[in-house]
Amino acid sequence: MLPTILDIMQYRRISFLRVKPSPFEYLAPTSVGEVLSALSQFEGEAKVLAGGQSLIPSMNFRLIRPRALVDINRIAELGHAYEERGAFVVGALVRHAALAKSVTTDPLGKLLNMVVPHVGHYPIRVRGTFVGSMAHADPAAEWCILAMTLGAEMVARSTERARVIPAEDFFQTVFTTALEPTELLTEVRIPLLGPTARIGFQEFSRRAGDFALAAAMAIVFMDQGRIRDARVGLGGVAGRPVRAKSAEQVLRGAMLERRAFQEAADLAAQEVDPLEDIHGSREYRRRLVRVLVHRALLQTIET
Ligand SMILES: Cc1cc2nc3c(=O)[nH]c(=O)nc-3n(C[C@H](O)[C@H](O)[C@H](O)COP(=O)(O)OP(=O)(O)OC[C@H]3O[C@@H](n4cnc5c(N)ncnc54)[C@H](O)[C@@H]3O)c2cc1C
Repeated sequence: MLPTILDIMQYRRISFLRVKPSPFEYLAPTSVGEVLSALSQFEGEAKVLAGGQSLIPSMNFRLIRPRALVDINRIAELGHAYEERGAFVVGALVRHAALAKSVTTDPLGKLLNMVVPHVGHYPIRVRGTFVGSMAHADPAAEWCILAMTLGAEMVARSTERARVIPAEDFFQTVFTTALEPTELLTEVRIPLLGPTARIGFQEFSRRAGDFALAAAMAIVFMDQGRIRDARVGLGGVAGRPVRAKSAEQVLRGAMLERRAFQEAADLAAQEVDPLEDIHGSREYRRRLVRVLVHRALLQTIET
């Protein structure tokens, strides 16, 4: 089977296409206002440069040829990360690695810590950004799964307007979001989970640091020994991260026990219609979903 565009984009053992980028202008603004003006001036033909961990390989493969790069790395105000009105707010320059630290006492902090080691390799985590992952919108990206599972909100600004886009509307399909080319994603707001939440995250990739073939996130909210509410998110199985709503439904009112978890995992596997590529058949990914959802739910017992 021939490699797909997805394989090329994800730098999976395909090195013969590695070339140099086509010529581009480089801008290094020092304020958000200057970034927005630059994006507007190039009328959608400029790209924001954050960590560069996805953008630069895509340019080197000449999959994209922006006329200009607008480097946001000198804008200190985009490095914010704090709790505000029931959410943890992550600014556009917060690197993956920063989320390995204790950033909030809410269980969300523990979930972020749990997920970070799965994002690429250490040098990628030091440079790449959480918000850049959102804008890049790889359907297997761990942070996109987290944003979709928890219903995060994306804050976008252009010279014309500021708007908030729910994750559900933001992620459209592979590498495609609701963001306009003249918009800057300034921050992402992730709802805090609260003290009754228990968490689990599992993924499978062939080598450490590779993108996941499939990944599952499970959050259960407890009330007097039973599951009051549940969120089950999946990545790597569709053009964008998805929630397994039938699994969530069956978990509501259940105890934290294996039988309910198995039923939820079976339903999640039935609900998805996974992608097929050189790394795995549809059926293989479906089986991965069943196993990973079950394991992620078992993890909630320990957290
Ligand atoms: C070998 C390798 C393995 C990897 N493995 C994984 C993995 O397992 N899981 C994973 O999730 N990721 C992985 N990545 C990707 C990595 O996490 C990137 O850091 C991330 O996808 C993008 O973040 P960035 O800051 O580097 O964005 P950039 O590369 O700078 O930008 C990516 C895209 O988003 C746009 N963009 C960035 N920030 C903004 C913004 N604030 N507003 C508007 N547009 C913006 C850019 O214009 C560009 O189109 C891997 C990368 C490599 C090279």
